[in-house]
Formats: sequence, C-alpha cells, structure tokens
Amino acid sequence: MLTLRDVSVKYGDALAVDDVSLDLPAGDVLAVLGPSGCGKSTLLRAVAGLEPLTSGGSIELDGRDLAGVPTHRRGFALMFQDGQLFVHLTVARNVAYALRLRRTPAARVRGRVAELLELVGLQGYDDRHPGTLSGGERQRVALARALAVEPSLLLLDEPLSALDRSLREHLAGELREILVAARTTALLVTHDHEEAFALADRLAVMRAGRVVQSGGIDEVWRAP
Ligand code: ADP
Ligand code: ADP
Repeated sequence: MLTLRDVSVKYGDALAVDDVSLDLPAGDVLAVLGPSGCGKSTLLRAVAGLEPLTSGGSIELDGRDLAGVPTHRRGFALMFQDGQLFVHLTVARNVAYALRLRRTPAARVRGRVAELLELVGLQGYDDRHPGTLSGGERQRVALARALAVEPSLLLLDEPLSALDRSLREHLAGELREILVAARTTALLVTHDHEEAFALADRLAVMRAGRVVQSGGIDEVWRAP
C-alpha cells in the first residue's frame, strides 16, 4: 500500500502539488487525471524521489516512510510517454537491462525475458531493434522492461499518449490485462480520461495542484 499524506511540492514560491493525500492499495492501478500543468508529473516525480517534499508531508510504502530513500533504492519502475528504449540494444537486451545490472545469472535472465515478452505478446521479438518496431510494440517492450524487476510500484507517465488513437484504444485494453496479470501496483498520470478509465481501478482528479475528487473508477463522475 502506497500512502501519500499532505504531499506538497514547490518550485520557488509556486506550489505545483498542493497538499495531496492518496491511498493506493497493493495490486490496484490508480490514475491521476487532470489537465496539462495541474501538477501530475511533479506528483509522480515526488513519489519516485526525484522532487523534495515540503515539510509536513510524507510518502509511505507499506508503512515505511520513504523520506531519505533515494530513487534507485525505492524498488519502483518508471515508464514514460515515449517508452525511451535503448535504440542500440535488441528487444531482449532492453528487457534484460535492469536484471543484468543486478548481475542476475544468464539462465535466469533468459527465462525472465521469455516470460515477459510472452506477457506483452512479443514472443520471438528478442533480436529485433527498437527502430524496426511499431509505436505500440515499442511501448510494450518498455512495459516489459519496467516489469522485469518486479517493481513494488510501477509509475506511468501518459504511457499511451504518444500513440495514435486506434493504437491507443487497442493497447489500453492489453495494458490493463498485463497489469492485472502481473499483479502490479501502478500509479498512472494522464490528461486523457479514456486512458484513465481504461486502465485504472481508482481515480484521482487533479486541478491546479490539488486532488479535487477521488474514489473507485465507478464512483467518480465521468467527464464528458
Ligand atoms: P502536468 O504534469 O500536470 O502537466 P507538471 O507537474 O509538469 O504538470 O507542472 C505543474 C506546474 O509546475 C506547472 O505550472 C509547471 O509549469 C510547473 N513546473 C513543472 N516543473 C517545473 C520545474 N522544474 N521548475 C519550475 N516549475 C515547474
Ligand atoms: P537529499 O539527498 O537532498 O538530502 P533527502 O535525503 O531528504 O534528500 O531525500 C532523498 C529523496 O527522498 C529525495 O529525492 C527527496 O525528494 C525524497 N523525499 C524527501 N522527503 C521525502 C518524504 N517525506 N517522503 C518521500 N520522499 C521524500
């Protein structure tokens, strides 16, 4: 369970995130939905440990305060809009990247890469390079790479926004199934309410730094 209590982030005198409190139970997908500039990415970065909180706020994972825990020790995975694959590495090497950094034995890496590529529907893509993949395929590789280390929390910043509309609709359903199958706890930020409703169990609506509404996906008012 991820718990945000009175989380605020300032840039100079400007409050980009203003007193946000949220709970994200283990295994759930929470979407933070709001217009550009409302503070979504800043909130995500704060959870990742990339922005300091103002005093009084806290972020806890399973009851453990993350204050002072650096990004690389939080056990989280991040996935951004454009996937950001390593273009000079094959699909398999991209997926294996974090495992190899951790000096995981080669046999174990091979097994895990096969498992992950199957999970995202890309069996047999091991030796392809990112430049030869479609946008949707690249996003699925990015997702496999993010899931490789079984993150305690997956942070997604507009994961489908860079894709065209039909691909986005198609991949949203798949991504949801993958997240459920991997039993991943995920925090997603997006300006796209279709993306939020397609992927999330819970929704928090953000405006000008504040969460103005939150609850289960069926409880929160559907924006037209
Ligand atoms: P969103 O992700 O919802 O588009 P952001 O979190 O990127 O919003 O930005 C929230 C507010 O903080 C905006 O007013 C933005 O201009 C400001 N902001 C974001 N990053 C910085 C920064 N590094 N320095 C100063 N202001 C920033
Ligand atoms: P520094 O390395 O500047 O001394 P800290 O050790 O205070 O920073 O924090 C390490 C990381 O944890 C920083 O990236 C910071 O953004 C983040 N952080 C600081 N306070 C909190 C908090 N109360 N809850 C969650 N994260 C925090």
